[in-house]
Amino acid sequence: MIIVMKEGATSEQINQVVEAIESRGLSPHISKGAEITIIGIIGPKNQILELPIEGLPGVEKVVSVSNPFKLASRAFHPQDTLIQIGGHVVGGLQPTIIAGPCSVESKDQILDIARQVKALGAHMLRGGAYKPRTSPYAFQGLGEEGLKYLALAREDTGLPVVTEIMEVGVLPMMDEYVDVFQIGARNMQNYPLLKAVGRTQKPVLLKRGMSATIEEWLMAAEYILAEGNPNVILCERGIRTFETYTRNTLDLNAVPVVQHLSHLPVFVDPSHGVGHWRYIISMARAGIAAGAQGLIVEVHPHPERALSDGEQSLTFENFAQLVHSVEQIVQALGTAGEALATGQH
Ligand code: PEP
Ligand code: MN
Repeated sequence: MIIVMKEGATSEQINQVVEAIESRGLSPHISKGAEITIIGIIGPKNQILELPIEGLPGVEKVVSVSNPFKLASRAFHPQDTLIQIGGHVVGGLQPTIIAGPCSVESKDQILDIARQVKALGAHMLRGGAYKPRTSPYAFQGLGEEGLKYLALAREDTGLPVVTEIMEVGVLPMMDEYVDVFQIGARNMQNYPLLKAVGRTQKPVLLKRGMSATIEEWLMAAEYILAEGNPNVILCERGIRTFETYTRNTLDLNAVPVVQHLSHLPVFVDPSHGVGHWRYIISMARAGIAAGAQGLIVEVHPHPERALSDGEQSLTFENFAQLVHSVEQIVQALGTAGEALATGQH
């Protein structure tokens, strides 16, 4: 259930509502917009329905949210969520571009890539230090050593670092090296991990599971939000279908659907979505045209020598082309793009 306060409701009135909710052992989640405050209530439905909220001063209306996700729903937070990461704002009118290798392979490799992608227009650096590989014999990532190289690259370029976390135990150690925790497709329903990143305030890039419905994905986001971390970015990275020419099927339907259902920013990962470098620029363009607020792409100076995902890695030259293409799409969209980015569609 969601309580919409009147414009200009006083903090005393808001506190009165909060106290009424807490006195029944339920949890209020407050979302303060520029003009109105919205309070979400999480708890058993019958208890919520019994709350004497409607008549309290300052309450405009009480709305029941039929979706199973509450804090992630647009009804709870009508404006798009904006997330400040370093000097960059995610979710605004300018799409965010995250670029870097699938895996951090060496200090020189990540420094070189960070410098190049920054010069070509990336806003953040990606690179895996803990890799979820299908084969236990494949390269598993450099672990903490890789995180140290990422932190060096951040120091050198100023680019915030996005990297995958695979287990709860390493979270305190990773915290100092990482600006955005990536939850990989395979861990989208790892609930202890979702709760652990939810207890931090660090932005989380939550990839869609390869067989997850949009609702399951939003429920995974709900786990993070329910722990008190509002900084969730959703990332569509392709789902499993019967098609074999591509690694996955990039589900661009998800972009407008999620933006209708939720206030959270949604990114597209064409690299894992498609799996072949040749098709990635097209699908990056399509993602932005569909209204995605950002992209995450894999870039490697020598894709043929990459220790993971070389076949889907862009060279610097291809990445430059991708950035140029995206700029053209943003310009072409003009005010239509602004309407998409502000959720007015
Ligand atoms: C990755 O980003 O390298 C990765 C493993 O992604 P996903 O979890 O989407 O497969
Ligand atoms: Mn990869």
